[in-house]
Amino acid sequence: MVEGLTARAKREVTGRFAGLGLGSGRPVIIAGPCSVESEEQIVAAARAVKAAGATALRGGAFKPRTSPRSFQGLGEEGLRLLAVARAETGLPVVTEVMDTAQIDLVAEYADVLQVGSRNMQNFALLKQVGRAGKPVMLKRGLSATVEEWLSAAEYILDSGNDQVILCERGIRTFETATRNTLDLSSAIVARQRSGLPVIIDPSHAAGRRDLIPALSRAALAAGMDGLMIEVHPDPDHALSDAQQQLTFAEFRRVMADLELLPATALESMEACRAEIDRLDRRILQLLLRRMEAVRQVGRIKAAAGLPVLQEDREHALLDRLVGLAGGELARGDVEAIWGAILAASRREQESFQG
Ligand code: PEP
Ligand code: MN
Repeated sequence: MVEGLTARAKREVTGRFAGLGLGSGRPVIIAGPCSVESEEQIVAAARAVKAAGATALRGGAFKPRTSPRSFQGLGEEGLRLLAVARAETGLPVVTEVMDTAQIDLVAEYADVLQVGSRNMQNFALLKQVGRAGKPVMLKRGLSATVEEWLSAAEYILDSGNDQVILCERGIRTFETATRNTLDLSSAIVARQRSGLPVIIDPSHAAGRRDLIPALSRAALAAGMDGLMIEVHPDPDHALSDAQQQLTFAEFRRVMADLELLPATALESMEACRAEIDRLDRRILQLLLRRMEAVRQVGRIKAAAGLPVLQEDREHALLDRLVGLAGGELARGDVEAIWGAILAASRREQESFQG
């Protein structure tokens, strides 16, 4: 089955997935509470996650709870509140649909339909959920193999909807230190085999908020397409998943750590300067590494009897950078900055010339 899936799904994802920005090179960050609880809660969460750089809002209206005694979600009222939060912030909404009978209703309000782990092999749901014409995020089942996960995705693709996003949210293992075990290797394999975008949900994988920063970093370092993170105005009093939801401040810190916090989120002069100092330190580290490579080229040039200055190479390098800057930095500024770097590099290389 996987060959069929690969052939169909391995396409440019840019421009698909309604407003999620998948394929733009920047990870998709879906954030928000586990459950929609009130208008005040979901609107506050939407504003906070948007300000911190999130690209979409999550929130469960229909909740698949292990116990029938647990909060089951606000249902249609929850969907309506999600639409209010979207109107307030412009963030696309991702929310779960649990039953075929709910598809049309959920699709009226949601931008992305989520199929939860417990429904990954609800074949009736898989066959119909794609027909609403909205992107579908398919979470991996609690004990599903990659093969089973991709086969489930194929049901959705077969209904004529190619906008399928996979989400790894941790699997059942013998380990009890975390709620589930984040299976990054399978997420990588699923992405390779299907060509579909894969996002990671560290919140349900870990079940504890202290692990979210490290797991998020790991997921993006592994080349995943995005994250889904639970964020709540008052996690300790959340009606579901209280232990794993981040406060607004914690979410901001995760986003800053991932270098995804927008500059507009830096409210004080002090915060802006801290960011500038951190970036300068990184730029310097990169310059030192660059200089190592420059020295090595200097040695090779000297051994081959080549001159230090190679104007064609310098011009090509500058043109490439001006293109990469895409107009966000003027040509003259790119030339001035790299002009200084190139001059320092030439001086360094002169020392190897006999
Ligand atoms: C959720 O994301 O709201 C959820 C219930 O997650 P999962 O289906 O992965 O348990
Ligand atoms: Mn949850």
